Amino acid sequence: MLTNASLSERDLKVLWHPCTQMKDHESLPMIPIQSGKGIWLQDFDGNRYIDAISSWWVNLFGHGRPEIASAICQQANTLEHVLLAGFTHEPAIQLAERLVNITPNGLERCFYADNGSSGIEVALKMSFHYWKNRGHSDRKTFITLENSYHGETLGALAVGNVPLYKETYGPLLMDVITAPSPDCFHREEGESWKDFSLRQLEPLRQLLDKHAESCCAIVIEPLVQCAGNMRMYHPAYLCGLRQLCNQYKVHFIADEIAVGFGRTGTLFACEQADVSPDFMCLSKGLTGGFLPLCAVLTTDDIYQAFYDDYQNLTAFLHSHSYTGNPLACRAALATLDLFEQEKPLEFNRLRAQWMAEGVATLTDHPHVAEIRQTGMILAIEMILDKKKKTPYPWQQRKGLQVYRHGLEKGVLLRPLGNVVYFMPPYVINRDEIDTMTRAAVEAVHLATGKD
Ligand SMILES: *Cc1c(COP(=O)(O)O)cnc(C)c1O
Repeated sequence: MLTNASLSERDLKVLWHPCTQMKDHESLPMIPIQSGKGIWLQDFDGNRYIDAISSWWVNLFGHGRPEIASAICQQANTLEHVLLAGFTHEPAIQLAERLVNITPNGLERCFYADNGSSGIEVALKMSFHYWKNRGHSDRKTFITLENSYHGETLGALAVGNVPLYKETYGPLLMDVITAPSPDCFHREEGESWKDFSLRQLEPLRQLLDKHAESCCAIVIEPLVQCAGNMRMYHPAYLCGLRQLCNQYKVHFIADEIAVGFGRTGTLFACEQADVSPDFMCLSKGLTGGFLPLCAVLTTDDIYQAFYDDYQNLTAFLHSHSYTGNPLACRAALATLDLFEQEKPLEFNRLRAQWMAEGVATLTDHPHVAEIRQTGMILAIEMILDKKKKTPYPWQQRKGLQVYRHGLEKGVLLRPLGNVVYFMPPYVINRDEIDTMTRAAVEAVHLATGKD
């Protein structure tokens, strides 16, 4: 019979898990999941867990959605895959049409990749290649923000800035220019989010003044730097950034891989600033958490720079074997249908409010630096010394203590360092939110109470 223990034992003999020090599992049980329904995951011993983080932010409408499952099944029985060069298929066309329709104006072309990181690689290469095709081969660097995260393939890692993922591989990475983050955690006491975020445009302007001529694009995560501890900023920064990109003629790459599809309260985070980027990368929630897929949306101007006779070598030759896989496109189409049928963004405003109410008692906790929220993303930052803003040393692994307590209470919380956060599927109800927030509040008290 399959049990947690038997599967865990077999797992630890053959598997190597992502983002994991495998030795931790000498003491930390691996949890084999048998099934998922709605916001619940169930293991082989019959324990259930609320998926408070949508399984790394991919699951939008709960696990096991029959609408998405049957769309994939039907597609699998018709056409499971065909190469997307010289050949095409309806799901790829229809998904591109719908993405062009729902993303900000000006984004008119859709290029597919298989996952977020490769989508970022596509945007970086396309931007560089655009400038080359336009006669600016001297443009070969990128501007990125402090504390940003764009994935972990080498190009994506290079434009990211989280030392935990980046530092080890430094020698392998291209050089980039790093601008200060608008991350409002660093604002002065009494300063508003808006004032602080706007203030951070000035150092960016100075960098552009100096480097614009050698620069292809600025890559950013709109509104929330998710893997960078769920740090947040004001939409006004995006307006300023768009203006600077126009003024200095560099591309604006919006990485909405995590924040897209309603996480920040609007369908896309860029909408809150009413800006349209030159590239928008979408992945994670795109298929409702069923299959890997990424869409890179871009403008007609950029598309036209590649449109030429073959012998001029201007074509964008980037490809992945599974580019535009029909099953993944179908899953994405079924996910977009759910947006139309269930209109989750309206009800999410209530969900967001319930999440905030559930953790409000932590606001004045001596070891909670702040509780911040943008739409359906809520983060609680634990801190050693609130006055001096001294973080807990990472060796204390406060997040791990929260994780363990969450599991005991049937809630999958997977803190980022000292930051406990919620990013639940858009089907979570009030009771489930209460269970989730109660577990998090208890866990924060426990983790910060000991020393
Ligand atoms: C997750 C993430 C990526 C990378 O996507 P993968 O599918 O994990 O490669 C890139 N950018 C952001 C903002 C992300 O959150």
